[in-house]
Amino acid sequence: MKCEQEQLWDVVVIGGGPAGMIAAGRAAERGKKVLLLEKNATLGKKLLITGGGRCNVTNNKIDLRTLLPKYGASEPFLYSAFAQFAVVETLDFFRARGMEVKEENDGRLFPASERAQSVLDVLMHYIEEQGVVVRTGAVVASISRSAEVSAGAPMFHISLQDGAIIQSKSCVVAVGGTSHPETGSTGDGFAWMRALGHTVKDNTFSLVPVALQDSWVATCAGVTLLDAKLSIYLDGVKQPLQKQQQRGRILFTHVGLSGPLVLNRSKYIGELLGQGEVTLALDLFPTLDPGALKARVQELLIGESNKQIKNTLGDILPGAPLPKSLVAALLNLANINGDTPNHSVRSEQRSLLVSLLKHIPLHVSHLLGADKAIVSSGGVVPNEVDFKTMQSRVVPGLYIVGDLLDIDRPSGGYSLQLCWTTGFVVGNSC
Ligand SMILES: Cc1cc2nc3c(=O)[nH]c(=O)nc-3n(C[C@H](O)[C@H](O)[C@H](O)COP(=O)(O)OP(=O)(O)OC[C@H]3O[C@@H](n4cnc5c(N)ncnc54)[C@H](O)[C@@H]3O)c2cc1C
Repeated sequence: MKCEQEQLWDVVVIGGGPAGMIAAGRAAERGKKVLLLEKNATLGKKLLITGGGRCNVTNNKIDLRTLLPKYGASEPFLYSAFAQFAVVETLDFFRARGMEVKEENDGRLFPASERAQSVLDVLMHYIEEQGVVVRTGAVVASISRSAEVSAGAPMFHISLQDGAIIQSKSCVVAVGGTSHPETGSTGDGFAWMRALGHTVKDNTFSLVPVALQDSWVATCAGVTLLDAKLSIYLDGVKQPLQKQQQRGRILFTHVGLSGPLVLNRSKYIGELLGQGEVTLALDLFPTLDPGALKARVQELLIGESNKQIKNTLGDILPGAPLPKSLVAALLNLANINGDTPNHSVRSEQRSLLVSLLKHIPLHVSHLLGADKAIVSSGGVVPNEVDFKTMQSRVVPGLYIVGDLLDIDRPSGGYSLQLCWTTGFVVGNSC
């Protein structure tokens, strides 16, 4: 056993993801002697796959009154942390280090380079500049805390898998949750937190794509609809959803649906799956009521009467054509040969098409697993953490940040904002 007696660190940060890196950098900036331990050979592996490799770094909600409700039931806990470091401070942090951002739909902010690597570069430069000592390939096996603590003595003994023991006055745990475990987030922190006396809510997945029984969706894989409407049914009964929860962006995948509208409802869909058969209905034209849509389809088919239906149906909304693969799938569902000239499409076929465009029936099979989840839900319950400092209320000197916390949030940059906020606050106070 290698006991690194000579080294007593002020702060050891476990986990080199976004929360751990910003925490380590800020603590070192304040003059602390900081060691960052990461099990992978490189830092920020998950960060690099965020936002499809473009990294939705935060959301342009600069007013806490509009930002914090996004964190649902955890909102009341978060004020004291976000009052110190929220969206404005995050943007200042990245801009001051040369990273500009660009805004997309729903206030999503991405690096102007559209590369997650730009975000990682800023963090790497920050920790290097502040003198954080980084040890990669360091797999932490367990954490223990001395019962008796006197000034200057180590409080934490951090055991690595290779037998080394590292000693520190304080310990920041930033090892993330369980989504995409191939990036290193294998949920190790949940067991440590339980062993140290914390209440850890069981780990499930939120923000996860949905698999469908309808195999035809595979033919539309990659199709994105910017404004679709989703209705959810349990055993044929429509479930109540708030208006703002019904519309948004949807992505067809090889096995089902993803995109913010579906990801943000996935936890709810998962709960319903435990109760019965779950079906979905997709409205491709939520801005048109059925009457207006029927009139528009009619107008289109009459105006282009000699064209084939497969070359016409996509043009319902000028400037927002339906992709050819989706048109082909819809015609297939309606049992209409795509080569049919518009003038030969019968009235009942037109009606069927219109009702499909407003209500594509889909049958949920299951939610995809950890390897496909964006975030895991569950974790250390927020009332056991002091959000002014992110210090544990159970174990003094222990700090808990990022995905390890049980805080639900939708997609849109809110997960990483939680990391920037909780990480910076720790660095400021540990
Ligand atoms: C596909 C995908 C896309 C996403 N896109 C976005 C997005 O665009 N915007 C957004 O806001 N959020 C996004 N998220 C969520 C976001 O990535 C997470 O919320 C964020 O990475 C959590 O950061 P963290 O620092 O808490 O943990 P992580 O990023 O999970 O980092 C934890 C680190 O700890 C290390 N570690 C784990 N166990 C040990 C151990 N025993 N010893 C040493 N080190 C260990 C891991 O290797 C890892 O590097 C996405 C997630 C996924 C999976």
